[in-house]
Amino acid sequence: MSRVLIVGAGGVSQVVVHKCAQVPEVFSEICLASRTLSKCERIAAQLDRPIRTAQVDADNVAEMVALIRDFKPDLVVNVALPYQDLHIMDACLETGVDYLDTANYEPIDEAKFEYKWQWAYQERFREKGLMALLGSGFDPGVTNVFCAHAQKHHFDEIHQLDIIDCNAGDHGKHFATNFNPEINIREVTARGRYWERGEWVETDPLAWSMSYDFPEGIGPKKCYLMYHEELESLVLNLKGIKRARFWMTFSDNYLKHLEVLGNVGMTRIDPVQYKGCEIVPLQFLKALLPDPASLGPDTKGRTCIGCLMKGVKDGREKQVYVYNICDHQDAYREVQSQAVSYTTGVPAMIGAMMMLTGKWRGEGVFNMEQFDPDPFMEKLNLHGLPWKEVIF
Ligand code: NDP
Repeated sequence: MSRVLIVGAGGVSQVVVHKCAQVPEVFSEICLASRTLSKCERIAAQLDRPIRTAQVDADNVAEMVALIRDFKPDLVVNVALPYQDLHIMDACLETGVDYLDTANYEPIDEAKFEYKWQWAYQERFREKGLMALLGSGFDPGVTNVFCAHAQKHHFDEIHQLDIIDCNAGDHGKHFATNFNPEINIREVTARGRYWERGEWVETDPLAWSMSYDFPEGIGPKKCYLMYHEELESLVLNLKGIKRARFWMTFSDNYLKHLEVLGNVGMTRIDPVQYKGCEIVPLQFLKALLPDPASLGPDTKGRTCIGCLMKGVKDGREKQVYVYNICDHQDAYREVQSQAVSYTTGVPAMIGAMMMLTGKWRGEGVFNMEQFDPDPFMEKLNLHGLPWKEVIF
């Protein structure tokens, strides 16, 4: 029986709240707090059990501390934006509460996708006997757990890793992002980077592509090499890794819009002067684009995210592909959200469950592959994200 404070009330949060509410034996009390109270109340009204709601500016550590002292959670689940990570971690340290998030801290004026700021909290969490679990979404999150699973059950060493993220869904809009537009566009327009024989190799944004034939009728799709944050911890934690890359599918239509927006300066994250006001073009663009949480009813099709790994077992070469397929409309029927929010929110709930039930425990700051993958993999099958594996 535990108390969980969920911070942020966007697309991912809606799924986390629904999923926690479905497991009252673990999450006996839930408080949902965000910057805009009405968004918390809207989500709370969708549930068939009561939860508490609160207004909080998570960048204001004193406000967060006061909320934590008032609600007394056992765990804070941060599904606000990456900009809030360090402030919420500070509030957790001050109040002696464990922490979980789904995305690495990002400074607002620079797209970095690095764990260094949060890894720097290692000693402070350890000294206080607290645990912080970083990146408990799908990618990062489940992809790290898939790697840990393969390392534990299939390989002596994993030499090559390709994480391949396919959204074969269609929302029917000219242009929309399926999670927070600002974070999504920062990620996609950043330079590509992958790990090759002990060092990072950079590419121009989306300069490299390949075709991958996705299973279960999804078929071949063009995938683009990008940098993605889980690579940073995986290259440290996977024994013998020589090459690690991350790929994501994009439609030609999405890329065409992005190119034009980039060319005219609308994806810039530095402030510009407009009629005496300072505006950040990407933040302005976010205000024009559809709210990802509103895409649920119309998004059709499936996502397929998996890890393709090559390595050795007992001296023999081996290849394993572990993946999940999630249907947008099934997700919508269950929690009124599309599959991108669903595939992030379910692992956030499972990560929270691992911590609160003591299956995953530690003092300090951890990435997902550092724990036993078995109980997490078992819960994926039970809570809406069944996985499969193919051994070549
Ligand atoms: P949304 O933009 O839909 O929601 C973000 C929420 O955070 C909003 O409710 C927003 O409030 C709230 N918020 C923003 N700033 C503050 C603040 N200072 N104090 C309190 N609340 C605040 O984002 P998503 O739900 O799409 O994404 C949530 C997180 O999940 C992001 O960090 C994203 O990077 C991560 N993510 C991770 C994935 C993974 O697989 N690991 C995949 C997809 C997303 P308001 O409504 O008032 O703006």
